[in-house]
Amino acid sequence: MIARLSNASRVVVKIGSALLTDSETGRLNRSWLQAFVEDIATMRARGQEMLIVSSGAIALGRRALKLPSGKLKLEESQAAAAVGQISLAQAFQEILSAYGRNCAQILLTLDDTEERRRYLNARSTLNTLLKLGAVPVINENDTVATSEIRYGDNDRLAARVASMMSADCLVLLSDIDGLYTAPPSEPGAKHLPEVSDITPEIEAMAGDAASEMSRGGMKTKVAAARIATDAGCNMAIANGRTLHPLRALEEGARCTWFTARQTPVAARKRWISGGLKPLGILTIDAGAVRALGQGRSLLPAGVTAVTGNFERGDMVSVRDVAGAEVARGLAAYSSDDALRIIGHNSGEIEQLLGFSGRAEMIHRDDLVLKS
Ligand code: GLU
Repeated sequence: MIARLSNASRVVVKIGSALLTDSETGRLNRSWLQAFVEDIATMRARGQEMLIVSSGAIALGRRALKLPSGKLKLEESQAAAAVGQISLAQAFQEILSAYGRNCAQILLTLDDTEERRRYLNARSTLNTLLKLGAVPVINENDTVATSEIRYGDNDRLAARVASMMSADCLVLLSDIDGLYTAPPSEPGAKHLPEVSDITPEIEAMAGDAASEMSRGGMKTKVAAARIATDAGCNMAIANGRTLHPLRALEEGARCTWFTARQTPVAARKRWISGGLKPLGILTIDAGAVRALGQGRSLLPAGVTAVTGNFERGDMVSVRDVAGAEVARGLAAYSSDDALRIIGHNSGEIEQLLGFSGRAEMIHRDDLVLKS
């Protein structure tokens, strides 16, 4: 089970405000952050791609702005986030740079992971940052997110990020070491080391809103587990109230693992091939059919015709000249733009469209071949 973390190739780790800030003074818990970032740097140096989802902006900003304790009004928490996010990012930047890593700040709103066109953009930027060795530090863009357009909590945000990035491991660092059959303070409450199926019983164990506080927000964590495991990502709820929490987890610290039944690649391909209805057809030449068979992306040069009306990020059917479906995938260009670049080399795209888009018509990660 431990190997789920040390063998993972892409890991998302979520840390909550309670770990990052001192509950009494509201100050950043720097020694904790230092030890946590050292764990991240160690894993990164081992070749694992690491993404951090960090809360704490509101907690830090509320202290700086001297806002009263208790529940904040929406505008107050948005203002607090605007102020606090700066110190949060600065702390990560300072500590990560001591390990020779660049820190990349990413602030997301719900649409960035739910709306396909924006999702492709966010994913591609994050992929580039990971390739360049940077460590993305992600938070919700609280300053502009109002209730209708909010993730609402960083547990679910972290799960959406893990799913969008096809991560194979998500760790939610919390103030509790996992899921229990009943509130841990009750006699007979048992710790669950592994959950392979999120049944209604498991959901009931996470409690309802009334008992949420005493269970460390278990409800949103189980909701996050559903999103992550559906996307092929194993997820752990682990205790972060220790220095070097990731090292502790690798050394066998108690936690609850929610196990995925498939790999992220299989989950993504299923998502692409199932459910969505193709909104257009790209007809491709024999050379492109061969290239796709070898696992390559579809380039504009290999496309001979475009039919249908679609936007960037929409699903299209890829067919050979005889009309047989070869693959399905998410188009990197709208049908209007596709019509202007087909048959051309990728190097000519900027000149043809007036902006520099992606080199691929459909990236291989967004393509599923018909078997
Ligand atoms: N995005 C919020 C913040 O940075 C935290 C939300 C959460 O912890 O669930 O303060």
